[in-house]
Amino acid sequence: MSGATIDRLETGVYRFPTPEPEADGTYRWDATVAVVVQAIAGDVSGLGWTYSTGAAADLVPEHLEKVVVGKPVDDVTACWEAMHRECRNLGTRGLVMQMISAVDIALWDLKARCAGLPLAQLFGTVRDQMPVYGSGGFTTLSDEQLAEQVKAWREAGCTQMKIKIGEAWGRCVERDLQRAGQFRELAGADVRLMVDANGGYSIGQARCVGAALDELDVVWFEEPVSSDDLDGLRLLRSVLECDVAAGEYASGIYDARALCGAVDCLQLDVTRCGGYTGFARCAAVAASQNLEVSGHCAPALTVPIGCATINIRHTEWFVDHARLEPLLVEGVPDVRDGAMHAVTDRPGHGYTLREDAARYRQG
Ligand SMILES: [Mg+2]
Repeated sequence: MSGATIDRLETGVYRFPTPEPEADGTYRWDATVAVVVQAIAGDVSGLGWTYSTGAAADLVPEHLEKVVVGKPVDDVTACWEAMHRECRNLGTRGLVMQMISAVDIALWDLKARCAGLPLAQLFGTVRDQMPVYGSGGFTTLSDEQLAEQVKAWREAGCTQMKIKIGEAWGRCVERDLQRAGQFRELAGADVRLMVDANGGYSIGQARCVGAALDELDVVWFEEPVSSDDLDGLRLLRSVLECDVAAGEYASGIYDARALCGAVDCLQLDVTRCGGYTGFARCAAVAASQNLEVSGHCAPALTVPIGCATINIRHTEWFVDHARLEPLLVEGVPDVRDGAMHAVTDRPGHGYTLREDAARYRQG
């Protein structure tokens, strides 16, 4: 235990353009924005970030910094609770919880660095590597681009892979199924196929599409309908063989509890569900329902907590984040044999902000 106290928080907004416009079933984008937090105690600095919008950074000087400054570096959970209470009237979901998540991650990293321990070791590991699944397969990709992605995932040893379907809010079901069939041919018979509709279908569509996916031995159907439609998810879970998954927008234990009755595997995003503190709590809620969790996006940040989570199935190696994380920070582990290893040879999560990331900085 270091005895140090938190001096200040600093933020930075970094915008990473995608190589070309990308889309899933229900959203299009041409950039990813990382909102970075550095938590500083003396000459030690902890690093965290979330994927959000630049406006989220304003929450730090206006609301979050004042309730954590002066607190012992070791008391991360007390900081989490103080931030959560401070934001009551703003709403503690969405953008607010994304920013609390980034600060929480920075504070855990700071605590581990002050203690001279790798973060995974501070948490207490149950495994030294985190199985990942290749994830991308945007609806905007050409056949050749999809083939390249699948090839890269195979070369990294991934035996589980996911593409996007539900194109144009479910208006292109024929193409969705044609692409799912193509995905099976590209990946081979031994790969566990996963698809994500991002809430693009109606319940009736999702039943029909799901039945066709079962024929292709697809094992994971993510957000077949909106993740706000718990009854719809529950119904689909009862009639389909593949696992129904959701949870990427969950922002705490109550969201996790509500979703647990409606999914076969609960997804948790460490940059949205309350950082490492929130992830551990939500995973425990899932464990109490005999469910596994799966990490959503932010692979580099998920690895330390994933290695310390008993009931985790895998985490998502999302192409946009796999591309940008090494541009933002140094030290991101490679994927080998379908897994990412937690950093064990340096303190904290082991990532440091790259100086040349400044060229992506917005504010
Ligand atoms: Mg998703």
